Amino acid sequence: MDTVDAERRLPERTRERLRNRVTSTGERDELEVTAPYTGERVGAVPLCTAEDVQTAIERARAAGAAWAERPVEQRAAILQSVADEMLDDRAGLLDTVQLETGKARFDALEELLDVVLNADYYARKGSDYLAADERTGGLPLVTTATEYHDPVGVVGLIEPWNYPLTLAISDMLPALLAGNGVVLKPAEATPFTALRAVELLDRAGVPTDLVQVVTGRGETLGEPLVEGIDHLTFTGSTATGRIVAGLAGQQLVDASLELGGKNPAVVLEDADIADAARGIARGAFANAGQLCISFERVFVDQRIYDDFRDALVRATERLDVGASFDFEPDVGSLIAQHQLETVQAHVADARERGATVETGGQRREDVGPLCYEPTVLTGLPADADAAREETFGPVLSVTPVAGSEEAIARANDTDYGLHASVWTADTERGRGVARQIEAGSVSINDGYLGMWASTDAPMGGVGDSGIGRRHGRQGIEKYTETQTVTTQRGPPLAPVDGVPKRWIGRAAQAGVEVLRWWRRHRPGGP
Ligand code: ADP
Repeated sequence: MDTVDAERRLPERTRERLRNRVTSTGERDELEVTAPYTGERVGAVPLCTAEDVQTAIERARAAGAAWAERPVEQRAAILQSVADEMLDDRAGLLDTVQLETGKARFDALEELLDVVLNADYYARKGSDYLAADERTGGLPLVTTATEYHDPVGVVGLIEPWNYPLTLAISDMLPALLAGNGVVLKPAEATPFTALRAVELLDRAGVPTDLVQVVTGRGETLGEPLVEGIDHLTFTGSTATGRIVAGLAGQQLVDASLELGGKNPAVVLEDADIADAARGIARGAFANAGQLCISFERVFVDQRIYDDFRDALVRATERLDVGASFDFEPDVGSLIAQHQLETVQAHVADARERGATVETGGQRREDVGPLCYEPTVLTGLPADADAAREETFGPVLSVTPVAGSEEAIARANDTDYGLHASVWTADTERGRGVARQIEAGSVSINDGYLGMWASTDAPMGGVGDSGIGRRHGRQGIEKYTETQTVTTQRGPPLAPVDGVPKRWIGRAAQAGVEVLRWWRRHRPGGP
């Protein structure tokens, strides 16, 4: 590509309007944004300061108080309008996402559709999760207990560059529905995507002050942000996750963190080889492998290893690397020089240690300065960098194993545990294998999309892959404080003057024993 034509994709007047949506209270230095496809300048946003973050939190908190008073149905209706606005602005949004990330258009569309699915899901189901719940009281007929879910106040979101649209907005929508204000800190590389999406929230009827955006350096903004908020949602690297979790721990602020992965795919001997190869190629090379749930390791039953490897190489070679704003390329650019360097270092280390590059293993400067071919490695030693560390690029290793037991053991030989897949003709058996893999989610006979689109089911990581979940009930309850109100009928449960305590003690114990017996034997079970 000669030029991204930034002026056409994101005209100066639009950039100016979006910049003005950032919360900054004075003249600020600038953060330059470039287009990975060509390295051209896209524009600049303010390098916000700690003071800006404090202002943003104050504004979000004030706006949140009024917002939380609105009926939840009204808030849900606005979420549906958000979905409509996203679909209406599809072309502009996809252009902006591609401009800043260099990803393929189909990958950008996945982001947009994910926002729509999440908006629709929480608009329909969120009010059930927020409704007051009658719980079983301590003493039957005497104590009633009700559980209420109140907004926490202000939710802070620190988001990465790899899925800048959906991670910022899909994680924000349940926070808004629950009645919170939010402060969003997009990644340095992708502020305009976040700002453009937030402008669509404004259009959909979200009160402007409710959603604050601060742009700039994570190292500067993280601490003041975590100090002032009531819940932190973070998606990014495990290293940075540890830093922000430490800040949250100091403040006793609850945090949900979705971090790195070294995700395995397990191919059993009865798998459909062509389907597995196609699905794993997509699951590994979507977003040029810069996806926290993409596969970087495949373990294949040795009985089908040769056929599978050949099929995977063919499926990989069919993927078109490209830099364009149409739907033609399958694989886009990497986002930045540091990503390219990691990919190159992992492949160089693999080569040095005797691994075979079955396909790929080359930069594609003819396509774009940061483009790299989808790469399949075999014979990769278990202690190679590409076998242990997250590459976060288009590099996939394939290893034969003696059977499902070894596959499970190899899959679990990592500190991460985000996502995995199992490929088999026998889905019940696949479920059995899936249950032994230590990961927050496992797809059977699919890469990641079916799981990612299951907004009713929680997703997140175990081990070094994170804490907490998005989606489903857990994805909104984390943005609430729970209050329990109990009501007592008759006199309070307190000692009565003149009655010996040992009698009261005996009566209390007898009461608990009867209650225990009754709860185990009552009709309908315990
Ligand atoms: P990557 O290494 O892939 O860029 P990071 O985890 O560093 O991923 O970045 C994810 C988000 O975390 C970005 O918005 C970034 O600005 C932010 N960030 C980076 N360092 C810190 C920090 N020390 N405190 C808070 N946020 C940070």
